[in-house]
Amino acid sequence: MNESTSPPVMVVTGGSRGIGASVCLLAAQQGYRVVLGYRESRKEAEEVAARASADGGTVLPVRADVSVEADVVRLFETASEEAGPVTALVNNAGILEGQMDLVDMTPDRIDRVFAVNVRGSFLCAREAIRRMARSRGGNGGAIVNVSSAASRIGAPHEYIDYAASKGAIDTMTLGLSKEVAAEGIRVNAVRPGIIDTGIHASGGEPGRVKRVAPMVPMQRAGSPEEVAHTILWLLSDEASYLTGTLVDVSGGR
Ligand code: NAP
Repeated sequence: MNESTSPPVMVVTGGSRGIGASVCLLAAQQGYRVVLGYRESRKEAEEVAARASADGGTVLPVRADVSVEADVVRLFETASEEAGPVTALVNNAGILEGQMDLVDMTPDRIDRVFAVNVRGSFLCAREAIRRMARSRGGNGGAIVNVSSAASRIGAPHEYIDYAASKGAIDTMTLGLSKEVAAEGIRVNAVRPGIIDTGIHASGGEPGRVKRVAPMVPMQRAGSPEEVAHTILWLLSDEASYLTGTLVDVSGGR
């Protein structure tokens, strides 16, 4: 394969729905060969791939639970073998659980949230860096972590565990950006505010977007596409001097 003309390869975790699906579609439109990781929504993942394909793009769905190391390794091995050298990672897969005060949280719940949101992002970043780092024969690259405005708001009475897991992602972004800068790898994060996706229903309040939107300074929720555009920009050469930056995509919230 001629690397100078082959399309760049992007891994997107949690690409079957919501923000991740929008990232996959926009990236495919922009000429990336996209490897879409999903946990269980195979049908939705295949629909994203079909939509990209109808538009002339390439999205390859791969089942991979980011909290399972073997799945993450297989995701990146599949990407390298079937799409080419990975130069972009979007650490997007994330979960939250039912709204409650910390005083009622079980250890299992806290572990589940941290296993996906924190350990999963760490493992994916590790596999990406092993392939991107110049000292390991890679071509450099860029990582965008999907954090949340919750990391600075704290999500009281809803999900402090989730907010704290995103705080860990902010800190990982800062440290990792410095650790791999000389390897030709940029690491940034987006911190979305209230975005209209299905994640709010998994907190037990499907109407949360409608309830909270009027309290946002811009008085509306954001769309997954608005977050996707910021992510694609951070991955692009237009953001070539940005690393360790946390970009709020939150309508002023
Ligand atoms: P969503 O609509 O619920 O989609 C979540 C995605 O993550 C799905 O594709 C899901 O795959 C995948 N996923 C969940 N657990 C996984 C695992 N263990 N391994 C691999 N994939 C997994 O969520 P979203 O709103 O688009 O959120 C995407 C990211 O944005 C998350 O990190 C979230 O914390 C962050 N965020 C969202 C908002 C918001 O208001 N929506 C605000 C701030 C930050 P399956 O379909 O297979 O389950």
